Amino acid sequence: MLDAKETLQAIQIMGKTYPTTGSSLVADTPFHFLMAVILSAQTTDKAVNQISPALFARFKQPEDLANAKPSEVEPYIQTIGLYHNKAKYLVACAQGLVTQFDGQVPKTHKELMSLAGVGRKTADVVLAECFGIPALAVDTHVGRIAKRLAMVKADATVNQIEQTLMKKLPKEMWITAHHRMIIWGRNQCLARAPKCQTCPLLFMCQEGQKRTQS
Ligand code: SF4
Repeated sequence: MLDAKETLQAIQIMGKTYPTTGSSLVADTPFHFLMAVILSAQTTDKAVNQISPALFARFKQPEDLANAKPSEVEPYIQTIGLYHNKAKYLVACAQGLVTQFDGQVPKTHKELMSLAGVGRKTADVVLAECFGIPALAVDTHVGRIAKRLAMVKADATVNQIEQTLMKKLPKEMWITAHHRMIIWGRNQCLARAPKCQTCPLLFMCQEGQKRTQS
């Protein structure tokens, strides 16, 4: 397993290769960003960004969405997966924002996770991106890379991955580490065909060493 120092070193090397960080979801307000994150489950940020301008223009405030029927939302999101359920979640989430939080996106895990369609990962991303509150959201890329690089145990759950990474990395690196691991997963350590031969982390990656030897 990589220790804390090596884990930080890996994140730093990722940053040298792909210096850009930040969410690729485009939104103008915390409310719209929350909508975008809910929509991004099991689809790409690119697909969400394609539909979000028209959706955001139609539902500018939580009240607009809270008063809509899911069937009114569906035409705006039907090009992405699970759109029936996502339409229901969006409306229920907006209703929660209006009734519980005066139409404002809350700033704690507990409050965010009380909203429909919001799990820990969504709450982490919203806290980090909208309010700069340190969080380390574990998505499919973060989980895969943490395991391949042995930053965490091979059988770690999503919760354990989050807790282990937060212990190994300084708090001020959590948001950056999340971004870098996602970029790494999209460009270098791809799910099906990781580019181990050209990977600057090969020297510390047993998984990559196994793959390049076979
Ligand atoms: Fe991923 Fe291969 Fe790089 Fe390891 S060496 S981080 S498996 S691309």
